Amino acid sequence: MLAAVLEGVRQMELKDVPVPGIKRNEVLVRVKACGICQTDYSAYTGRRTNWTPPIILGHEISGVVEDVGDEVDSWKLGDEVILSPVISCGECDNCRLGLGHYCRNGKVIGGEGQKIVLPGGFAEYVAVPTSVLYKKPANATFESAALSEPLAGSYKGMIEYSNLRLGEDVVIIGAGAMGLLLLELAVAGGAGNTIVIDVVDARLKKAKELGATHTINSKEVDPREAVYDIIPNGPDIVFEAAGVLEAAKLSFGLTRRGTRVNMFGVIIPGEIPVSPAEIHFNETRVDASFSVNPRVMTKAISLIEKGKVDPGKIVTHRFNLTEIDKALEAMELPDRIKVIINP
Ligand SMILES: [Zn+2]
Ligand SMILES: [Zn+2]
Repeated sequence: MLAAVLEGVRQMELKDVPVPGIKRNEVLVRVKACGICQTDYSAYTGRRTNWTPPIILGHEISGVVEDVGDEVDSWKLGDEVILSPVISCGECDNCRLGLGHYCRNGKVIGGEGQKIVLPGGFAEYVAVPTSVLYKKPANATFESAALSEPLAGSYKGMIEYSNLRLGEDVVIIGAGAMGLLLLELAVAGGAGNTIVIDVVDARLKKAKELGATHTINSKEVDPREAVYDIIPNGPDIVFEAAGVLEAAKLSFGLTRRGTRVNMFGVIIPGEIPVSPAEIHFNETRVDASFSVNPRVMTKAISLIEKGKVDPGKIVTHRFNLTEIDKALEAMELPDRIKVIINP
């Protein structure tokens, strides 16, 4: 089968590799769509260092069941499926507490956050245990379905950890893929004002289309002044979804007493100054959200099925697996939001 194998920093090679064999409790999935996550791209550029070549990346996967192991009776050939990248053991203390993404014996399919990384979705096929399979809603495209994983991580951040409540004012810094999924959730969740900050007008336009009540280009105006012009009492929730340290710093700069900050996007090393006393007196709450567990995958897929959120709306670029180089180049385009590979 064809696979895009990362052989080293900026060395992505299209290779003919054997179709993976399946164990008795596994299925073979023909990949129909796989999103490129910023973490994939950071591995490619070398900004992310927690991987060893050769590796097949890609963890936002949807596809069709092509073969099933001897012990598999709940899935059959032709089933349309969504994959969660996290394979949790189900038996450690964290798994039993419903925190599968903290699994002590976890593995991840084409992603990061677990010690063992299995081949991912930038390939024609992946072999996976049935525990990571979810039924693709019939009304969802493979593209939307592939984005269940980033939607689930966003759901965990916005709804479960930062506890968005009806009518609350939300500021999202960064109108990239994650920022816009957070926006879709905030809108669906009944936020009051949804203010999106970015430096690229094309992305801010997309944010408007997806229901942002206000957008701010922080290259043109002072973002704190602009936010407080719109909501003089300040935001209930601030999400950092730009992935850069300046945005993390700005998140704290936008708070008032009682704001809940979510450190959602920064995945690169580095530090920012924070004032413990300010956090104390303002009772600033800091949350984050990394990776997914079965509960939030289930919730995210149900939101797609019910038409409450459509993650497919953020897709701006599509490529065949044979065009992986072009797809990686597209990651650098300023108007790029989500890039999808269709093997
Ligand atoms: Zn990801
Ligand atoms: Zn576990």
